[in-house]
Amino acid sequence: MRLDDYRDSDNVEQQSGGGGGGLGFGGGGGGGLGLLFGLIGSRFGIGGILVLVVGMMLLGMNPLSLLGGGGGAPQQARIEQKSAAQVCAADPAHRFSCRVLASTEDTWAKLFQAQGARYSPTVLSFYSRSGVSGCGAAQSAMGPFYCPTDRKVYLDTEFFDELANRFKAGGDFAQAYVIAHEVGHHVQNLTGIADKVRAGQQQTNEAGGNALQVKMELQADCYAGVWAANNRDRIEPGDVEEGMRAAQAIGDDTLQREAGRTPMPDSFTHGTSAERMAWLKRGLDSGDPAQCDTFTGSIDR
Ligand SMILES: [Zn+2]
Repeated sequence: MRLDDYRDSDNVEQQSGGGGGGLGFGGGGGGGLGLLFGLIGSRFGIGGILVLVVGMMLLGMNPLSLLGGGGGAPQQARIEQKSAAQVCAADPAHRFSCRVLASTEDTWAKLFQAQGARYSPTVLSFYSRSGVSGCGAAQSAMGPFYCPTDRKVYLDTEFFDELANRFKAGGDFAQAYVIAHEVGHHVQNLTGIADKVRAGQQQTNEAGGNALQVKMELQADCYAGVWAANNRDRIEPGDVEEGMRAAQAIGDDTLQREAGRTPMPDSFTHGTSAERMAWLKRGLDSGDPAQCDTFTGSIDR
């Protein structure tokens, strides 16, 4: 994907902390544990810790939060006081993500306008290892995600390394696909489809809810393809294959099999590798969001 001359998005932010721990109370790492051991070794002694724990419980706090990341008091995201330009300049992965995001903004603005609607962009919140989102804690093990509550995409760019190393799906287009997929969820939020799916999930059992979730995910894949198709002049040889490899690698059946389990279709929440590839391709071939009706449409596999 040739984006080196593209502008950076302004809709980005960088969360601080996370990575190295030391956040203190309930923080994302070593801080809490260090504090507890510090207390044990200190003059408070075991009795003092007991008092502290009971005191915290009386105050409605979770003493386990002293151990770090234990689901204690809600955490506040610490957003670094940096301009978007500074956030994007942090390293090549940030820069690339900023340009992909800018490109999705321009593409979806155009596609919404064609429907007489206005696209309001999402915000890309970078964090490292652990962060905070409007949907709860952000942990890099979760992979990138979209939070419909605060309408932000959360990304630890180390996921790109994981894509390349663990999922064998490296390459810039694979990374762009992941971001465009999350932006696809934002589009679903704007169009109201996400609300409809959530309402539908209230009225069905777990398997039915998962089936709806799969359709959501496949539509986001299709939207990622639509984005790429509208930037066809920037697609380089090998890009589509990179995207397909990523879509295949992160299909639920492949992930479950890799984890040593027999794939269980009822528990799928993202779709099989074949489905993900097929819907990404549908978007890529058509460039038309109207072709991404995963809810009523079927597709040849
Ligand atoms: Zn998704």
